[in-house]
Amino acid sequence: MELFEIIERDEHEQIIFCSNKDAGLRAIIAIHNTSLGPAFGGTRMWNYGSVDEALTDVMKLSKIMTYKAAVTGLNYGGGNAVIIGNPQRENRELLFRTFGKYVNSLAGRYYTAEDVGTTVEDMEFVRMETKYVTGISKALGGSGNPAPVTAYGIFVGMKACANARWGNDSLENKKIVIQGAGQVGKNLAEYLTASGAKVFITDIYPEKIENLSKSVKAEFVPHDKIFEIDSDIFSPCALGGIINEETINKLNCEIIAGSANNQLENEEKHGRMLFEKGILYAPDYVINAGGLINVANELEGYRQDRALKQADKIYHNLSKVIEISEKENVPPCLASAKIAEERLKHIGGMKKIYTKN
Ligand code: NAD
Repeated sequence: MELFEIIERDEHEQIIFCSNKDAGLRAIIAIHNTSLGPAFGGTRMWNYGSVDEALTDVMKLSKIMTYKAAVTGLNYGGGNAVIIGNPQRENRELLFRTFGKYVNSLAGRYYTAEDVGTTVEDMEFVRMETKYVTGISKALGGSGNPAPVTAYGIFVGMKACANARWGNDSLENKKIVIQGAGQVGKNLAEYLTASGAKVFITDIYPEKIENLSKSVKAEFVPHDKIFEIDSDIFSPCALGGIINEETINKLNCEIIAGSANNQLENEEKHGRMLFEKGILYAPDYVINAGGLINVANELEGYRQDRALKQADKIYHNLSKVIEISEKENVPPCLASAKIAEERLKHIGGMKKIYTKN
């Protein structure tokens, strides 16, 4: 009974626990809502401290995917998977092929892709067992790394925020701080420096900064000094939970716009705190939808120009969120939830459960 209560709290449709001792596999697949179409979401591999921690994470991620697809106008549902284990583990073929068999058993109700701790190569192992996987390499007909399109979406989303806040969407001479010099951070820094912004970037690994300094004209800052910089835009592109009581008090910026999932430690409470402080927060699942757009494109025969064109719509989607937020005097995270829930209700009919005919 308790397990059903957990599922019902977030209104998930289905949770699948997958175990195979020979492959060393312990995974959970969460399918949140398929009323708009098959569930879409990555596979995260992480050293979770407990099964509860993994279950909480996968359920939070799958719910966000429902909202991301709905607000972006895609006809997909929300799902996600986690594999409990060391993301640096070697000998990954048996593990990911066994996981792929579980994905295949869902017969198209869930499509997976890479996420934190998994790679394009891992998804190619999954591909050996199922067609319900995306994010495989371009050489095999896939879309490759989604980060360039995600970064482009963040860039246009920042422009929408700039337009709402300063009356035009130019980022020239704006002081922008990027937290995380990973795949998205690097590509974003390139877009921003090319458009004349003054970019400051940090990472916990100095070698990432070293690599980046060869190609990007940005100022590099130690990661523990990031909140000491006054900026126009703060861009969280590392991990979630970065916006919390402690950091909100330190933040000195006008806009928060970045790629990390679940940036607000507590969606409602911290969204409201930012709103009351006059900081414009771009809801993460609205602005970082470029990654989902990219992998979803793979199902229709991937073309990056088409994915980038679709990512352009993030400007419009975010502008609409900000408009509702201003009109109804509610934080943008509540405005975006409203748009997503209305689409789920009207288009998805809420009760529809996707199965492949
Ligand atoms: P990544 O692992 O390539 O980069 C993240 C970087 O953040 C790493 O270099 C890491 O060292 C750094 N980092 C971690 N903690 C930090 C801290 N406290 N301070 C500074 N740097 C720190 O990941 P990515 O693909 O660039 O994704 C970044 C974020 O965006 C993740 O949260 C991811 O879930 C989210 N996201 C990514 C995509 C995508 O297409 N890659 C799509 C949607 C959302």
